[in-house]
Amino acid sequence: MIQTTDWKRTRNDNIPVACVDCPKCGKENVVARVASARSGFNSSSERGITCKRCDYIFAVPESKLTIRRQPREQLDEEYGVDALTWIA
Ligand SMILES: [Zn+2]
Repeated sequence: MIQTTDWKRTRNDNIPVACVDCPKCGKENVVARVASARSGFNSSSERGITCKRCDYIFAVPESKLTIRRQPREQLDEEYGVDALTWIA
């Protein structure tokens, strides 16, 4: 018998986000959400980042962002998933 309740679990799913590690303290900072997990971006537009841990301000070109999947719950705690911007 096929269960049709799977969609309810999406709250706990990992979602793909664009990340960069702080050059000063090494903490991973989530920059934006992405529609799907892919290898990277061609864009050289720079993103201004303020480190979540040490407040170090730096800029990174979108082409240098790393796509990772992170648990929605963790993202919600740290950033608020719905507050994150998107990279199309
Ligand atoms: Zn930092």
